[in-house]
Amino acid sequence: MPVFLKSPLLLALFVGLLLGCQPAAKEYRTTLFSFGTLIDISFWGVEKDKADSVIKEVEKDLQYMHYAWHAWQPGPMGRMNMLLQTTAPFSANPSVLGPIIKARELAIASDHLFNPAISELIGLWGFHSDDLPKGPPPAAEKIKALLAQKPRMDDISIENVRMKSRNPHVKLDLGGVAKGYGIEQIMTLLKNHGISNAIVNTGGDLKAIGQHGKRPWRVGIRDPRKKQAVLATLDVKDGESVFTSGDYERFYEYEGRRYHHIIDPRTGYPAQGTRSVTLIHPDAGTADAAATALFVAGPKDWRRIARRMGIRAVMLVDDTGAIHITPEMQARVNFITPPGNLRVSKIN
Ligand code: AMP
Ligand code: MG
Repeated sequence: MPVFLKSPLLLALFVGLLLGCQPAAKEYRTTLFSFGTLIDISFWGVEKDKADSVIKEVEKDLQYMHYAWHAWQPGPMGRMNMLLQTTAPFSANPSVLGPIIKARELAIASDHLFNPAISELIGLWGFHSDDLPKGPPPAAEKIKALLAQKPRMDDISIENVRMKSRNPHVKLDLGGVAKGYGIEQIMTLLKNHGISNAIVNTGGDLKAIGQHGKRPWRVGIRDPRKKQAVLATLDVKDGESVFTSGDYERFYEYEGRRYHHIIDPRTGYPAQGTRSVTLIHPDAGTADAAATALFVAGPKDWRRIARRMGIRAVMLVDDTGAIHITPEMQARVNFITPPGNLRVSKIN
C-alpha cells in the first residue's frame, strides 16, 4: 500500500474515488410506447441513474409531440386544421410551426409526392383510426372530388407565428414525417445531456449517434414480405438516420388486393409498384419524408426524387421483389442471402 494511504481517512477517500470512477454500465436499453408504436432506446456507457432520468424527459417530450402533432385526435394540429380551412390568417400554436415549416420544405423538394396536405384523402381511405380499415375501398367519385381540390403544402404561407392557407381544402397529416422530426428533437435532447452514444429506433426507423462500444450500432432492414425476417444488416455511422416506408406497415386486403397507407397524391390511390424503400440521411425528418416520397415515386421515378431531396444511399424493393440500390447503399448493406435480382443504379 502506498505510504499516503496508510491514513484511514485517505484510504476511504481513495476507495471512494475508485468507486466513483467505476466504468459506466455498458449498454442501457429500454422500450417506450409513443407515436402509436414501440420505441427502443439504447445508450452506451451511461450510468443507469442518469439514463433513467434522461429517459423520463425523453418520454415526456415524445408524449407531448405525439399529442401536438396528432393527425386526427383533438389538439394543436386539429385546431390548426380547422383554422386553415377558413383561409383567413391566424396565430399558429408554436408547437406545430417547426414540423410544418420543415414538412413544407420537404414537400416542395419531393415535387409534392410527399404531400402532408392530403389528410382528407388519407381519412377517406380509413387510415385515420388506430384500428385498420376493412374495406371496401372508397368510391372512385369521392377520390376524384378530393383530388380536384389540389391541396398542397405551398398553399400555406407562414410569417412568424401567422399562418394561412389560400386553399380551404388543405388539411395536414404529418404521419409521414412526424416520427423522424420527433427523433431529431430527442437526439438533440440526448446530446444536451452529454450523451454521445445512443440509438433511438421505432420499428426500423432510427437515428444513431456515436457507437456501441468499439463497434458501430448495427441494425436490420426488414424483408417487406416475410414477417420478422431481416433482408440485410447495416452499420449505422455517427449521426446517421435510417428510415423505411413499406406497404406492410398499415394495410388491409379486400377481394384479394392490398390497400396500404401511403397514398399517391397524383392518383388518390395507394402508391403502386413498391414494397419498401430504405434510405440513409443525417437528418431524421428528411429521411422520414424522403422514404415516403420515394415510395410514392416508385421503381421508375425514385432516382429523380432522391436527387431533388439530396439522398444518396437508397434501396427500393419493387412489387416483383427486385431490389433497386444505389452504389452508396450497396457499399453499406450486408444481405443475409444474396438477392436474386439486384439492380445497381446511380442517382447522378
Ligand atoms: P411513412 O410510414 O413514413 O411512409 O408514413 C406514412 C403515413 O404518412 C401515412 O400513414 C399517412 O399518415 C401519411 N401519408 C400517406 N401518404 C402520404 C403522402 N403521399 N405524403 C405525405 N404523407 C403521406
Ligand atoms: Mg416517412
